[in-house]
Amino acid sequence: MSATSDPMNADRPNTGSQVPAANPTVQQNPAAQSQKPGWVEHQAQRLTNLMHSVRLRLSLWFGLVLAVIMLLFSGFVYYRQAQDVRDTAITRLLYRQRDLYSAMMAAGREAGENRWPYYSSEFTFELDEHEVLLISDSQGELSGVWGEINETQAEEIALQVEALPIDHDKVRAVSVQVNNGPAYLFLPTPIYYENRLLGWMVLGQPTDPQNQLPRLSFTLALGGAFTLLIALAGGFWLADRALWPVKAITRTAREIGETDLSQRLNIHTRDELGELAGTFDNMLNRLEAAFNRQRQFTADASHELRTPLTIIGLETSRALKSARSSEEYRRVLNVVQSENEFMTRLVGELLMLARMDAGQVKLKREPFDLSDLALEVIERYAPLAADKGVRLEAGDLPELPIQGDRQYLSQMIGNLVDNAIKYSASGGARVIVETTQVQNSVACLRVIDNGPGIPAEHLPHLFDRFYRVDSARSHNPDESAGEQAIPGSGLGLSIVQWIARMHGGSVVVESEVGKGTTFTVLLA
Ligand code: ADP
Repeated sequence: MSATSDPMNADRPNTGSQVPAANPTVQQNPAAQSQKPGWVEHQAQRLTNLMHSVRLRLSLWFGLVLAVIMLLFSGFVYYRQAQDVRDTAITRLLYRQRDLYSAMMAAGREAGENRWPYYSSEFTFELDEHEVLLISDSQGELSGVWGEINETQAEEIALQVEALPIDHDKVRAVSVQVNNGPAYLFLPTPIYYENRLLGWMVLGQPTDPQNQLPRLSFTLALGGAFTLLIALAGGFWLADRALWPVKAITRTAREIGETDLSQRLNIHTRDELGELAGTFDNMLNRLEAAFNRQRQFTADASHELRTPLTIIGLETSRALKSARSSEEYRRVLNVVQSENEFMTRLVGELLMLARMDAGQVKLKREPFDLSDLALEVIERYAPLAADKGVRLEAGDLPELPIQGDRQYLSQMIGNLVDNAIKYSASGGARVIVETTQVQNSVACLRVIDNGPGIPAEHLPHLFDRFYRVDSARSHNPDESAGEQAIPGSGLGLSIVQWIARMHGGSVVVESEVGKGTTFTVLLA
């Protein structure tokens, strides 16, 4: 099958080699300029195909889901880390504040009881770098500020602290961005004297002195973006790999011509796509078999018709060559008549098989007695049997009511009786037709002859169309006009089998060379 140059076929591996620009001689040719838009269109088409591809959609969905998961995860990690940083800052502040508070109280005691504020001009807080300390009275009025903070902001913080509810079980802290810079955590401690709130000592330190949170956000963002990128690329690759059977199916379907159904996918993976490919292959098997059957049927039919036509042609041209005796003309006319009969019968059978294949045959089911019908057929064929010297007898024919198409069943029995007479015609030949009831619902009809029998190797093919045990004998121009001719198309038993099957039944053949043949039809 030659490769197609269809630009729509973006998935075909060989399309790359068809790009005209790859050929240097084409590039030199001015006419090649007209190829350029074709290439551009081809690439645009590939892009459009990719945009609409399941692979891309799958990987985008996958990426989106992963992005949401990673966002939630990063948010959770960041939140936990921020809490840890804040807790550490509070612990640090608590220790530091206890020291400063003790130092302040000690200084106050030294300076004398009931002195407020405790820090006098002779007392100084020894603060670390970046530490901020505020002392305010119980009204939130600022009394002193230490550290790098402007007055206004210090006042705001003092007021915020004053507004905080006093809860001895909980640590209350205020988070403020100092001087538009880093975030500070301010921890207030109430200053009591004889159970009286004198004011507040508020210590502030940078919440995250080691910049852990910005570094964490950077790591999460970078890691997230990187992971997402890898996941998208990996997802696309995986989707591409997982969907390659679909591509193979598409390609094969494209490559299957009207007359060549031999292509197969041969994808034997155990997943859903493997199952799809298997179903596709099975469908192709059935199509190919049906197609071959049809081709064979047509070839056989034309072959069968050509033989009698050739015979008629030969006989008539031989007779017309010179003047013949009236006996000779009679012989030729007999041949023509016999071949005409053969062709009429063949065309009738072909027509019937064609209608059967097309599903155009509708059975007219009616109740009747199968034994009655068998007797009718025997009577119809009695003259022929007598003519051939065959004893056609009715065997056991008990009453056997069945439901079926009388006309088709009559033809079925007729074909079997006709064959039995035809193939066993000789002195002492005997054909018996009998019926029996097997079980309650199965009617059985037998056509028994004591003819030459059929060799075992032919039995499996007997019901095939155009199959004849001795095809040479069935059509001999010299014999066809004589007594020995056994014209047969090889279609009779196919029709018998079809009629039996249409009635939910089957036909079996038993035969022994030299002893005879029995055809048994079972009807449900
Ligand atoms: P045909 O039109 O040639 O008779 P059939 O399909 O009816 O075609 O039969 C197929 C072949 O089976 C025949 O060619 C014949 O050789 C063989 N056959 C059928 N019935 C008998 C029989 N009763 N005895 C011997 N051979 C038979």
